[in-house]
Amino acid sequence: MLPTYSLIVPIYNEEATLHELYRRVSLVMNRLDAPAELVLINDGSHDRSLSLIRELHQEDSRVCYLSLARNFGHQIAVTAGLNFARGRVIVILDADLQDPPELIPAMIEKWNQGYQVVYAQRTQRRKEGWFKRFTAYTFYRLLKNLADVEIPIDTGDFCLLDRQVVDLLNAMPERNRYIRGLRSWVGFQQTSIKFERDPRFAGEVKYTFSKSFGLAVNGLVSFSIVPLRISTYVGLFAAVVALVMAVLVLYWRIFVPHSPVTGLATIIVAIFFLGAVQLVSIGILGEYIGRIYEEVKNRPLYTLGEVAGFERQPEASRSR
Ligand code: UDP
Ligand code: MG
Repeated sequence: MLPTYSLIVPIYNEEATLHELYRRVSLVMNRLDAPAELVLINDGSHDRSLSLIRELHQEDSRVCYLSLARNFGHQIAVTAGLNFARGRVIVILDADLQDPPELIPAMIEKWNQGYQVVYAQRTQRRKEGWFKRFTAYTFYRLLKNLADVEIPIDTGDFCLLDRQVVDLLNAMPERNRYIRGLRSWVGFQQTSIKFERDPRFAGEVKYTFSKSFGLAVNGLVSFSIVPLRISTYVGLFAAVVALVMAVLVLYWRIFVPHSPVTGLATIIVAIFFLGAVQLVSIGILGEYIGRIYEEVKNRPLYTLGEVAGFERQPEASRSR
């Protein structure tokens, strides 16, 4: 019999949290009204995570796992989990227990009321540094203003998805996957539940600054073309300034006896300013072109090392 609920957890070097994760999640699974599976995705960990996952699978047949052949990153690991999960309801959560599994019954409650997407919205981040909080705060608001779809602020990937939505996500071919954005993009009835984000249970943060920054740029570029327009605006502005300057400079040169336009300094500043504007514009263009390149290469989203626990592989098991 296929499970009704699938809980998806990406794992990257989480040997310190796995047992506690399993303990808390299995308590929740025991109390659910229908069978559940726990889908663990090993995202190329190089600690003992994979062997711990194998043990959990041996002990409890509800635990299934896939192991990616290397580290593909959080969003791809979750994507792989979505491809394999078999439930009618799918919940995505982090391994470090920052997303309390005890919230799942409340999410399912909402699903029973007819919502296809229930995302958890943070009201507070406990014990995270000011820098992380500040950058996250700014980014979510920036994205909300720039994106073409309404992406709710302060939500992470912790959410419940109906099978219908997961099938749609699985059918989306794009490789720069910003799951929170795609989740909003599909539409349907969406709602939130509020929670306070706990600190990480154990171990180091796996999202380094550069990974978070990459995710942020990805979110912006995948869901907005406004950055492309910025260079147009700056260019227009520079053109207006240039016109005014031209008139002024000519006037001074011709009509003012001791012309103030001796201007090496002016020229240097102007050259550097315009040079910077052009480089930044090219950089922004590059972000988009780079993504086009990634998409046309059309490589699979991930490679699999090991899969266990899924007696029957769902149809959408491959990325394409
Ligand atoms: N993770 C992953 N691959 C990565 C980085 C992180 O699968 O390359 C997983 C990690 O094991 C955890 C989740 O993604 O389950 C969130 O990572 P973390 O808690 O370090 O980031 P946070 O979102 O708390 O900053
Ligand atoms: Mg975390």
